[in-house]
Amino acid sequence: MDSIVEIVFRHAEREPERPAIFFEGQTVSYRQLVLEVKQFALALLGNGLRPEDRVALFLENCPAFVVAYLGTHLAGGIVVLVNNQYRQVELSHIMTDAGVRFCVTGTSGRAELSRLELPDLEMLIIVDDDAHEVTHEACASYSLSDFLNLGDEQGASYELTMPSPDDPAVIGYTSGTTGRSKGALLLQRNLLANITSLTEAWRWTSEDHLLLVLPLFHTHGLMVGMHGTLYMGARVTLRRKFDAASVLTNLRDDPGISLFFGVPTMYSRLLAEAERQGGPMPHPRLFVSGSAPLSAHLFNDFAHVFGQFILERYGMTETIMNMTNPYEGERRAGTVGLPFPGQEARVVDTQTRQVLSAGEIGEIEVRGPHIFAGYWNRPDATAEAFSEDGWFKTGDLGSSASDGYFTITGRARELIISGGYNIYPREVEDVLATYPGVGEVAVIGLPDPDMGEQVVAVIVPVPDQSPTASDIIAYCRERLASYKKPRQVVFIEGLPRNALGKVQKHVLTARLR
Ligand code: ATP
Ligand code: MG
Repeated sequence: MDSIVEIVFRHAEREPERPAIFFEGQTVSYRQLVLEVKQFALALLGNGLRPEDRVALFLENCPAFVVAYLGTHLAGGIVVLVNNQYRQVELSHIMTDAGVRFCVTGTSGRAELSRLELPDLEMLIIVDDDAHEVTHEACASYSLSDFLNLGDEQGASYELTMPSPDDPAVIGYTSGTTGRSKGALLLQRNLLANITSLTEAWRWTSEDHLLLVLPLFHTHGLMVGMHGTLYMGARVTLRRKFDAASVLTNLRDDPGISLFFGVPTMYSRLLAEAERQGGPMPHPRLFVSGSAPLSAHLFNDFAHVFGQFILERYGMTETIMNMTNPYEGERRAGTVGLPFPGQEARVVDTQTRQVLSAGEIGEIEVRGPHIFAGYWNRPDATAEAFSEDGWFKTGDLGSSASDGYFTITGRARELIISGGYNIYPREVEDVLATYPGVGEVAVIGLPDPDMGEQVVAVIVPVPDQSPTASDIIAYCRERLASYKKPRQVVFIEGLPRNALGKVQKHVLTARLR
């Protein structure tokens, strides 16, 4: 088997009526999924899709997302994932950068797109509109149901072939946390290599049932949650978005749900909701966290209330999943565990690029069959992202313990160098977060004529509290080496975050410069 879509066809042959996706009262079986995937692929070919044409999914979570995703692969196109919260600036960047010809979206997405000048875009497929063919502006559009019918009509005219391992499959755009987002091109074999080791590491079986509230336009939702389900022939309850109360109800009402994946913010809201509701807690077999650091604090508090340790893993758009805490062994707070089976990781000095020993902090580099083919249209960025001996430079700083567990310390681009000392913002942030009255915090470096850079703490106070800068600095002085303490404390109302909730430090730095 060389692709996810081929595997899904195999499941449908073996057990057609097996449910694949539950969504808002609707059940999609493997048979139904495959039927629509074929229709979608044929309709794309019927409308002139050429090999490796880009098909963008600018869409909320729904079964049609999965149909369009697999259908594009079956037709030989490349899927472009677009965050559905993106508006004019980001949208125009991605659609133009990827040269998108077909776009699957909703009525609100169509409105957003119609305001842009997109010469490459030829056709819109609208999932939530039952209107018949409408032609608007420069670009033809179909409702999804009409488009699928078209596939039926054209069934005999085209031969469908399954993708090959080296075929380009997806362009995923990075979250834009450290700058403008870049398109990472993943091949079919990258997707398969990663999901093979991930399902093995987490003991995923066909009997598992995942509750998936993460967006499908992002690696975590699509390439971990949806791929794992489809690869195993398992089932998924898909929801449009996260809401702590309904997730808790869902988990309580359906003890068959065995897996839940989230980002740290979801776990902290889930915990608060559980504490509010009280009573016995649901017990799926596995809670997974990733995309951003899970604090040791939250890890322990959650275990206290839910009676099990969250499994933290580490991944990125370019590499899908890199590291995981063990399923059976110790899940260690504050660490991201070890490389997945069949993958390697090392820590190197950011200047000399020499491999460092256990305990030393440097940039994490990874190698293996999961690493992407390169950045779309960015040969310069691609060349820069790989070491001379072929390792991918993650841009994340961290260290490994002598027993192989990795800890992430922050982003290489966010490292502060003051008076020749390296200061890792996360270490200072962890201290500041424990100060009463501090709600949210980000530590950044601003230029300093004497020291090169100086440490600046940006703080969002807890409502109705007003901690003072001098008290905060004194608090840090007691707990950290003097050169790490903030020179300045800036109070603001909210931190700039990207659509995934990650703090955009480059925006803060530009604002405060
Ligand atoms: P950009 O590359 O555009 O700046 P981004 O790196 O945030 O954005 P993603 O590919 O979505 O875009 O995110 C990957 C990054 O998320 C990783 O490089 C890492 O910094 C962070 N990350 C993922 N999982 C974890 C984790 N468990 N702990 C800490 N950081 C994590
Ligand atoms: Mg990145």
